[in-house]
Amino acid sequence: MSEYRPFDSGASMIPSSEPFTPINQVGEFGLIDRLRSVLGDDAADSLVQGIGDDAAVYRVGGGQVHVITTDAMVEGVHFDRTFVPMRYIGWKAIATNVSDIVAMNAIPHYATVALALPNNVSVEQLESLYGGMAEACSHYGLNIVGGDVTAATKLTLSITVVGEAREEDIVYRKGAQPGDLLCVTGDLGASAAGLEVLLAGKKGFEAGGDGAETSQPNLIEFAYAVERHLYPQARLDRMKTWAEAGVKLSALIDLSDGLGGDIQHLCKASGTGAVIEAGLLPIHMQTFKAAELYEKDPLSMALFGGEDYELLFAISKADKEKLDENTYAVVGQVVDASEGITLRDPDGNVTPLETSGFQHF
Ligand SMILES: [Mg+2]
Repeated sequence: MSEYRPFDSGASMIPSSEPFTPINQVGEFGLIDRLRSVLGDDAADSLVQGIGDDAAVYRVGGGQVHVITTDAMVEGVHFDRTFVPMRYIGWKAIATNVSDIVAMNAIPHYATVALALPNNVSVEQLESLYGGMAEACSHYGLNIVGGDVTAATKLTLSITVVGEAREEDIVYRKGAQPGDLLCVTGDLGASAAGLEVLLAGKKGFEAGGDGAETSQPNLIEFAYAVERHLYPQARLDRMKTWAEAGVKLSALIDLSDGLGGDIQHLCKASGTGAVIEAGLLPIHMQTFKAAELYEKDPLSMALFGGEDYELLFAISKADKEKLDENTYAVVGQVVDASEGITLRDPDGNVTPLETSGFQHF
């Protein structure tokens, strides 16, 4: 038996002849595909769902599965410490991970937290950050059970959450069938609207505006939208209500990138197309108001603003009857893959729904 030497064939420094593909040339999801093929698909028998859904799923015996997800929040990319209090950063970091567990129809149990800290963060600020995480953990019923702290130039939180469910209860992105209705919880675009308000406030402050109206955002007028951005809610409440009503969704994803981007993931996994009805999208009045004030398109905010952390799901027309109509809105229909993914306006004009969600690279 030869000695195990894993890097025998590739241990040298990167040769100068190696191609250099910039990450933005392949994009976030192209990158994931490239890295996934490096890993290969040599999975254990207990694995039910690997890369490609909101969380991975593996069997633990007795008909139970665990689901596991991980997400990083990086200063300057996901949050701006100049206008987001530490407490909210902590809340959001937990809530967004819980949202991915909920998007599998599982219950979150445990989290680990890896922190990378610049030296301009105080112990008191970190206590606030952990206060926000503790609040979210208590709200969603999970516990932080470990982690790591390291130095860095930007504040970064990497969180892993593990949840549990019966295997038969898990809902994947891949179960949508042509004819199913496409539905969302809550409203869409308010988080992006709230971010516009906060950014406008920061801009006004930096420009040294001479009065409250130029240097301060109107947080009262846009309280709902700002809260949606700073204090997102994972829809564990909806999943529990529907489980009690005996409803089985056919496909499910949480809305982190925006409906326009996340519908692509759901359809790709399901091998279907979709028609989204622009006139049916639930959009809050404050989103319309912010869009008007900052000269943005409210429909684009709803489709591509992202970070709403609502749920997008497919359900059969028969099962829809079991849902309380106050808990969701129908926004379209699943169609055959050959029909593509389209947006239909209230006049009946149909256009391809482009992927214009948040691009990290
Ligand atoms: Mg997700």
